[in-house]
Amino acid sequence: MQEKTLVILKPSAVERGLMGEIITRFERKSLSIVGMKMMKLDEPILREHYAHLVDRPFFPWILASMMATPVVVLCIKGNDAVNVVRMMTGATNGRKAEPGTIRGDYSLSAQENIVHASDSVESATVELARFFKPEEIMEFTHSSQAFIYAPDEI
Ligand code: ADP
Repeated sequence: MQEKTLVILKPSAVERGLMGEIITRFERKSLSIVGMKMMKLDEPILREHYAHLVDRPFFPWILASMMATPVVVLCIKGNDAVNVVRMMTGATNGRKAEPGTIRGDYSLSAQENIVHASDSVESATVELARFFKPEEIMEFTHSSQAFIYAPDEI
């Protein structure tokens, strides 16, 4: 089932020059990037996005970390994209994330963990609307679908 999910390349990815490597991972998986832009995040959008963490003692650090540089937001499309991208992302804490995942390969931190990825289809819908205008998401399909999926998967 085709899904769209949100990925944010956090300041830890931007500052360390990892944007291209991470985008390449999604492309090599044959996921489709159907939205992509650089933007600066402010406190109101982060309070909304991380509402489940605002009462945690480390929340001010998350705010500062996410506003330290611009970020890149991606809309990624594919079959089961939400779960596939979450698996590619790995556990929250980079020290506990499996090698082979983005966080497992590039992070040693629970905070500076390179990417955000939506954790469910429901949150992907809400989060994509938070970061993208409808017209910023491109409705197109790569012509190589027959080499990516079986007929009953398209
Ligand atoms: P995930 O990003 O894996 O969905 P959460 O929603 O629990 O995880 O946390 C959101 C973000 O808040 C994390 O990606 C990380 O940047 C930060 N964070 C979570 N837990 C901690 C922690 N214990 N210390 C510092 N930062 C944290």
